Amino acid sequence: MSGRPARIKRFHDIMELIFSTQDEDIGCDECFRHIDRYVDMVRTGEDPAAVLPQVKRHLDQCGCCREEFEALIAILEAEMRSPSP
Ligand SMILES: [Zn+2]
Repeated sequence: MSGRPARIKRFHDIMELIFSTQDEDIGCDECFRHIDRYVDMVRTGEDPAAVLPQVKRHLDQCGCCREEFEALIAILEAEMRSPSP
């Protein structure tokens, strides 16, 4: 009814991720696993770079993943522009 347990679990996963891989490049596979989360945070107005800094760092240095990210953002922006019923 109220509350979103899945979201809390997600947050826990994110925190675990931050503390376990803070100084390493996560690589493309790991980046792709989190990129929809990252885009989702952009959608909800959160700061994904603060929550998923390692994804942000990877996007900064990997043109391949940045292209994927920008494509997802373009889709997101198109969705936001068209009002959903
Ligand atoms: Zn990459």
